[in-house]
This record gives sequence, structure tokens and C-alpha cells, in this order.
Amino acid sequence: MSTPLIAGNWKMNGSLSLVEDFARGFADATLPECVDVALMVPFPYLEAAGRAWGDTPLVVGAQTLSDRPAGAFTGEVSGEMLKELGARLVLVGHSERRILFGEDDAAVLARVRAALACELTPVLCLGETLEERDAGRTEAVVLGQLEAVLEGLGVGERPRLVLAYEPVWAIGTGRTASPEQAQAVHGAIRARLTDYCASLAEDMRILYGGSMKAANAAELLAQPDIDGGLVGGASLQVDDFLAICQSAG
Ligand code: PEP
Repeated sequence: MSTPLIAGNWKMNGSLSLVEDFARGFADATLPECVDVALMVPFPYLEAAGRAWGDTPLVVGAQTLSDRPAGAFTGEVSGEMLKELGARLVLVGHSERRILFGEDDAAVLARVRAALACELTPVLCLGETLEERDAGRTEAVVLGQLEAVLEGLGVGERPRLVLAYEPVWAIGTGRTASPEQAQAVHGAIRARLTDYCASLAEDMRILYGGSMKAANAAELLAQPDIDGGLVGGASLQVDDFLAICQSAG
């Protein structure tokens, strides 16, 4: 079984003082022996987080990256820049990027490749909208998003991904997928990974995201194919996020 990963996503929230709060809160925190913890912070806080969290288990991540290595792309940030500032992971294909910023499957694949090229771990987000779920298309949508990336990668690159299943209707809404609903999709993702390679399916971490909080984390994380969480709102409070990390043991 892979080590669970709890990853927070601050989105466009937070502050330098919140970076310091997390440094203090996690410095002496008691965590389960076997859990990885990361926080995806806005670009301007990466460097401070890298410095402040050095003595904690918190790993620094970013929320997106350019699909290009360098050049005349005003406003963009490359994977190498993120790495230089201490990021180890980067979210790719979050539904807010797909929906609000028009990132389609091709754009998502290009960003996954850009992340891998500079040895950042891409956390690839997958998820259906409520309309798609109601139309019975959940698996088709989620597995389609997954295949669009896996088909574009080499056999040796695929195991370097982390996946996050995030039903769009559960993000920031307070409406969590039930453990059974989440497990059903995670199981389908795992089964599709088996079609590629048994060890890929076994080792790949598949996180659940969508209104995860201290009160529901334990039962979601207890599902056989849920290997961690991607946490938005509840990653902005030290105590809430810590409690979620503690329930991953
Ligand atoms: C997210 O932004 O990835 C997320 C899961 O948000 P929330 O936990 O607030 O639903």
C-alpha cells in the first residue's frame, strides 16, 4: 500500500502570516508515522513557505505552471521557477483551471509534461460536473480525462503522477461525495490503470477532493482505493488541516 498523501490547496487565499502559522502549527505536530503532507500555495508565498516549513513535514507545492520552459509568455511561471523556489509538486487540471481558464485535455497534458520535464510531481485532477453525473457520464468523463494524459506520456513517465478525483459539484460547496460514491469512482480509476499495468494501478496514489474536512476525512480515507485527500477550504486553518492529516494514519 502506498503512503497516503494529504495535500492542501490554498487557491488564491492565504498570507505570509498564514505561512508562519503553519510553520508553528506543524513544527511539533504529532502525525501518523506514515503520511505525506503538502500544501499548494499561491506563487508569491512559495519561497517563504520553503524557508518556514523546512523543519516541518510540510512539502511545498504550486497550483499551476506554464506549459513552456521559458520565453515571451508574459505573466506565466515555468516549472523550473517553481522548483527554484522550493516547490516539489504542482496541481494540474484542477477544475477551476479547466472551467474558468479554459484548460482543455491538451493543455492539461502539456502542463503535466512540463512538470515532469523539471522533476515536479504533477497532481492531476479529474472530475465530473453535476450535469455529467446526472446524465450518468461520471466514469466516461473521469476516465476520458485520465486517458487523455496517460496516452500522451511514456510508460516510464506514468508512475510519476499523483491523481486526484474531485467531483466538481463537491468542490467548495460543502457537499461531499459519500464514501461509497467516491470509492466507486476511485475503483473505476484503479481498474483502468490496471489495463495499462498492474504495478501502475497498485502504486498510483488516488486522492479524493471535494469538501473534505476533519469530520468526514476518516471515513473517506478508510475506503480501499482512496489514498489521500486534496483539501481546499479546510487547508486554510492549521487545526482543521492538522486534524485531517491525523486521520490519515
Ligand atoms: C479543491 O480546491 O481542490 C477542493 C477540494 O476544495 P474544497 O475542499 O474547498 O472543496
